[in-house]
Amino acid sequence: TLDTAELVLKDQFPGLAGDWHYLDTAATAQKPQAVIDATVAAMGRDYATVHRGVYARSADMTLAFEAARRRTAQFMNAHEDEIVFTRGATEAINLVAQTWGVENLKAGDRILVSMLEHHSNIVPWQLLQARTGVAIDVCPLDAEGRIDLQAAERILTSAHKLVALAHVSNVLGSVLHVEHAARLAHAVGAKLLIDGCQAAPRLALDMAAFGCDFYAFSAHKLYGPTGIGVLWARKDILDGMPPWQGGGAMIDKVTFEKTTFAPAPQRFEAGTPNIVEAIGMAAAMDWLSGVGLDRAEKHERDLAVLLRSELRKRNDVTLFGPDDSLGIVSFALDGVHPHDLGTILDEEGVAIRAGHHCAQPLMEHLGVPATARASFGLYSDESDIDALLKGIERTRRIFG
Ligand code: PMP
Repeated sequence: TLDTAELVLKDQFPGLAGDWHYLDTAATAQKPQAVIDATVAAMGRDYATVHRGVYARSADMTLAFEAARRRTAQFMNAHEDEIVFTRGATEAINLVAQTWGVENLKAGDRILVSMLEHHSNIVPWQLLQARTGVAIDVCPLDAEGRIDLQAAERILTSAHKLVALAHVSNVLGSVLHVEHAARLAHAVGAKLLIDGCQAAPRLALDMAAFGCDFYAFSAHKLYGPTGIGVLWARKDILDGMPPWQGGGAMIDKVTFEKTTFAPAPQRFEAGTPNIVEAIGMAAAMDWLSGVGLDRAEKHERDLAVLLRSELRKRNDVTLFGPDDSLGIVSFALDGVHPHDLGTILDEEGVAIRAGHHCAQPLMEHLGVPATARASFGLYSDESDIDALLKGIERTRRIFG
């Protein structure tokens, strides 16, 4: 059983009102009232543009927006000049592929990704491949579903210029040892990009310690708003990257003859930014840090362990992923398609995800078209697991 004193109260989350068991936090997290309040104030009482206004409201908004960048830097133990605000993790990874990748990679070079990557850490590299002729290798998983770093070490050569891996798998919940991956990548002269979407809400981020070169995540999985995310990159790398989208705010001086660009991170933030969302993300970081990332990690581990041990008691459930997975449990109920399970669970007020989870190569590797996935947040508790187990039992009775 869980230490209930440690639980974050569900009543901080208007999205969880009623008798509803939300087990799809890996897709997107519900928002605490503190984050909702911060975005409402930023869009209402405090609203104005940033970086341009000569009036006080805009100057104040600029301060709040840049404070959000500093907050993000603090959240990741990084420097604020290394924080690029993006639309989310997907945009962050595409930005790296289309600026750093196009500038630095050519035919003959290789990229290593893993078997468990989300499509957003596969497809941008394939688009880059079509432009540059770079080759893509796939790192296998160990028997339990962790990225196999011993295999990575065997695969990596001096032709590899980039290793791109998920910190926490969105399907299996398996956790990558980032420092180890960084040592392996750097040993062959490659850069390491980490997709931190599922790690940012569950683990303390430390860019100074991790040793990676790029780190991407989305705010909406971190109890913050949609439409905002982060690309962190080492300052020297960011400074050397050419601009991506052109427009306002990313320039130094524009003439029809020649345009010069602003330094990073502004060089990568063309147009009016997601002001409200950035402030909401900073509020989410305040909220999550207030709860404590150590508590988040423990809570997510405990819930995954509890659900896995309950599911293991059934002889009609296949579990995917390692036992030390973090907050995310994928499984199959014998003879029942995950979509049917998800539909019956919905009738019971239990929301899970059923599908390929934007990880089709991993589904093929697991030999299934789809999995059922229960994923937890800080608001999740044993009652959610009980409701899920009851729903699974009812599904069994219906399907026989
Ligand atoms: N990577 C992982 C591991 C994810 O879980 C997700 C979201 N499901 C993404 C990348 C993409 O994030 P977004 O859609 O917010 O850009």
